[in-house]
Amino acid sequence: MKAVRLHRYHENPVIEEVPEPQISGPWDVIVDVGAAGLCRTDLHIIEGQWEPIQKPELPYILGHENAGWVREVGSAVSNVAPGDTVIMHPLTSCGLCPACRVGEDSHCENATFPGLNVDGGMAEQLLTNARAVVKLDQGTDPKTVAALADAGLTAYHAVRRATDVLFPGTHAVAIGAGGLGHIGIQSLAAITSCEITVLDQNEEALELAKSIGADHTVVTGSGDQESIVQQVLDITGGGAHIVFDFVGEQGMEKLSPQLLRPRGSHYVIGYGGTVQLNTIDIISREINVIGNLVGTYNDLVELMALNAAGKVHMRTKEYPLDATIDAMQDLDNGRLAGTRGILVP
Ligand SMILES: [Zn+2]
Ligand SMILES: [Zn+2]
Repeated sequence: MKAVRLHRYHENPVIEEVPEPQISGPWDVIVDVGAAGLCRTDLHIIEGQWEPIQKPELPYILGHENAGWVREVGSAVSNVAPGDTVIMHPLTSCGLCPACRVGEDSHCENATFPGLNVDGGMAEQLLTNARAVVKLDQGTDPKTVAALADAGLTAYHAVRRATDVLFPGTHAVAIGAGGLGHIGIQSLAAITSCEITVLDQNEEALELAKSIGADHTVVTGSGDQESIVQQVLDITGGGAHIVFDFVGEQGMEKLSPQLLRPRGSHYVIGYGGTVQLNTIDIISREINVIGNLVGTYNDLVELMALNAAGKVHMRTKEYPLDATIDAMQDLDNGRLAGTRGILVP
């Protein structure tokens, strides 16, 4: 089958023929990939950022945002059957470890992470397992949902964790109205009652943000952090209860804590930069910094329900699998602002 494989860090992956995956365990599921989302994480993988954490054996197939149709199942699989339309939770969790027992699939001790540490979905077929597959309405087009599997799920997970705090009268600030941010903003509008302020350097992205639920927007293009902070403090009456940083680099990680009110929380979702805080600022304001990694299986089920109800939708641009490198260059050069690249095998 055709696949996009990373052979060396800091080099473009190679589109080539590789052997098809095989069922070897009772819980295995093989999926005919209908679509694979392209993610900034793929660029970070190529840069080698994930090597010390995931230690994949090279070469391997990229692609961790996958949806398609079940092709073949292992002997114990009863929740899906060949032909079913499915989206994959990014991790193949075990169901037996302490994290799995409390539903925290992303922290499973025995999981694989297709596309990060084993072969992923930028290919004609993907090997996953029964715990990872979410069955969708048969008519769902994988191209419209694939990128929700990780980017969408991560954004939704962060918002979902904050729902208890974001009751009427509270303020959320979302930084970045790109791929992650536009799902986060729609999720905030769909499942919380807070006022939503969105920051982005791109005015076009802010116009989009207004159309999907932002109450206020602030352009960050000027680079004048003091003025940005003042605008946000004015809008929020003294700072946000929660700042969702969907960027996590380019200075946004340093700006975020300044936008909080006392006892506020800085949710880190995008990554790449370094959060630096004086300990006296943390204790005197009692602020929190909270990491967000992917989401739970149930988060993905909920997000699919919101998507089916038309409340959360991802703007996408399709590329054939052969054009993967073009798509990566478009992502890297900011040509996919507010839009997600989708690879179709
Ligand atoms: Zn991703
Ligand atoms: Zn587990």
